[in-house]
Amino acid sequence: MAIKAYPTRVNHERRENPNRLRTWRTASGGVVTQFWGMRIYCGRCRDCNAPVTTRRNISAHNWGMTQLGRWPELCGECRAVKDAERKRRQVESVRELRRKRSEKERVQRGNLGLPPVRTGRPRKTGPTPKPLDL
Ligand SMILES: [Zn+2]
Repeated sequence: MAIKAYPTRVNHERRENPNRLRTWRTASGGVVTQFWGMRIYCGRCRDCNAPVTTRRNISAHNWGMTQLGRWPELCGECRAVKDAERKRRQVESVRELRRKRSEKERVQRGNLGLPPVRTGRPRKTGPTPKPLDL
């Protein structure tokens, strides 16, 4: 039996009012409207105050919770800027980590009396190979 068919008071109420519209305000100041198994969110971007809208199909989540996480706080542009900034910081932190690591390795090799590691392509030695004549 589908969950909508269970004879609970809520399901009965839903069957009786299929076009019921509910609306409420979110903590961040947006408005959610729910009808026909969809939730539509209308809010403002946290940074630039541009309108932010999105919708979710909650009828697909009949068996579980319909609290599917926070509604978006940023508009598409602000989101892209923020993602790019995060990406840049991640790249930088990995670069810094590798720099520290190779510096530590260099010091350890120096303490052991080993020659430093040469990075990059090995230097060519000997005559350069002639191109094949076909
Ligand atoms: Zn924005």
